[in-house]
Amino acid sequence: TNSNFHSPRLILEDKRKEESVNQIVSALVLTPELIKQIQDTFESEMELGLMQNPPKASSLQMENTFIPELPNGKEDGDFLALDLGGTNFRVILIRLKPGHQAESYVQYYTVPEFIRIGDHGEPLFDFLAECIHDFMKKNDLLEKHLPLGFCFSFPMVQKALDIGVLVTWTKSFNIPSVVGEDAVKMLNDALERRGDLQVNVVAVVNDTTGTLIKGASLYPDCAIGLILGTGCNACYLEKVERIKKWDGEHPGIDEVIVDIEWGAFGDNGVLDFMKTEFDKIVDNNSLLVSSFTFEKLFAGKYLGELVRQILLCLIDDKLLFRGKLSNMMMTHNAFTAEHVSEIESQDGDLKAREILETLGYPSVTDDDIAILRHLCAVTSVRGARIVSICLASLLNRMKKEFVTVAIDGSLYNKHPKFHQLMTDFIAEMAPERKFKLMLAEDGSGKGAGLVAAIAERLKAQKHK
Ligand code: BGC
Ligand code: MG
Repeated sequence: TNSNFHSPRLILEDKRKEESVNQIVSALVLTPELIKQIQDTFESEMELGLMQNPPKASSLQMENTFIPELPNGKEDGDFLALDLGGTNFRVILIRLKPGHQAESYVQYYTVPEFIRIGDHGEPLFDFLAECIHDFMKKNDLLEKHLPLGFCFSFPMVQKALDIGVLVTWTKSFNIPSVVGEDAVKMLNDALERRGDLQVNVVAVVNDTTGTLIKGASLYPDCAIGLILGTGCNACYLEKVERIKKWDGEHPGIDEVIVDIEWGAFGDNGVLDFMKTEFDKIVDNNSLLVSSFTFEKLFAGKYLGELVRQILLCLIDDKLLFRGKLSNMMMTHNAFTAEHVSEIESQDGDLKAREILETLGYPSVTDDDIAILRHLCAVTSVRGARIVSICLASLLNRMKKEFVTVAIDGSLYNKHPKFHQLMTDFIAEMAPERKFKLMLAEDGSGKGAGLVAAIAERLKAQKHK
């Protein structure tokens, strides 16, 4: 079957070494039983997350996104978007004209660490406002009045399209005092403090939602938005009647976009059965310990660190590098998801040698290389499998004719195998469903701009 085909095999000259490595790595190989158990757990967590009074708390937030409509091609005008949360912070200008292809201009900025991690939120939002100013100045937009869609890639409780209260920071951000605050208000306040920009934040969206909206503007059957980047999460079109926790009637609305927030899947302990010792160490060394169980199993911020932890274990057992531990190898996050992606590429041997050299291993054996490549393959296959389990569950639940899954994020973009692995795994686990995995590059930010445009279109219609 496909799953056998995709379980990487380690072949070494030294058979005893091969067996020892295999034994250590076996904890990361998902058996059909484990796969089934993860799938069942995910499905029951989704149900619990949609209930009015669940018998026990779900680790899935299943959040309403308040997106009023999907794009209909009649959106018109210039819109700004911000994309904050992952590897790069972006400011984007989107020009929409009905009947024409959308044009966009993107600029990347780096959020310095002292702003990402700290006691106060104002420096972060002042920095965002400053970047907006810089972008508008460079693009000759300072005189313009522009609506802005804010892609804020963190879990929020949404109370309206333009109210997003932060639930917790994740990934590389930690500013505890912002938790419980409305990100839109904080951004608007920062814009007001400057007083020199005519920018109005009209919508806040999660990056998965932005990606789904961007996807829907390209493919009419797009119904899932997935981020496989620094973090991982998905949203999908859910039938309103299945959202039991919603009170009251919702006349005229059949489906809504639900932000699952599956990065936190397992935070209530339901995934403990499949966590390895390596996963526990990765969590313990992370910025926000004991949270985001699922995401830490494979997402871009953690995949390299997971491999490094296994390497450390093998070095300790003298199965690698003759037991030699370099200073670099001891450094937290020295091995990254980008390294994994390079080693998983066609010239993996060469890449592995180059990377090991930068990590303090100028001369390594063929076995060392084979083992490193094997670790990258095993952790990648596990990651792709875990995401595919959830996607297969969604497709089976939605039962649509055909679903395009719009995907954005650095891991999906750079990893040479995730796309194919996921395509195969989902086909195996949801054999009746027809689907396509499509890259929506910069989809999250552009989608946020589109949401601002939809919101403005609806406002204009109302005033007619
Ligand atoms: C956040 C999600 C986000 C995902 C992908 C997670 O850490 O909680 O809101 O969608 O990362 O960026
Ligand atoms: Mg992102």
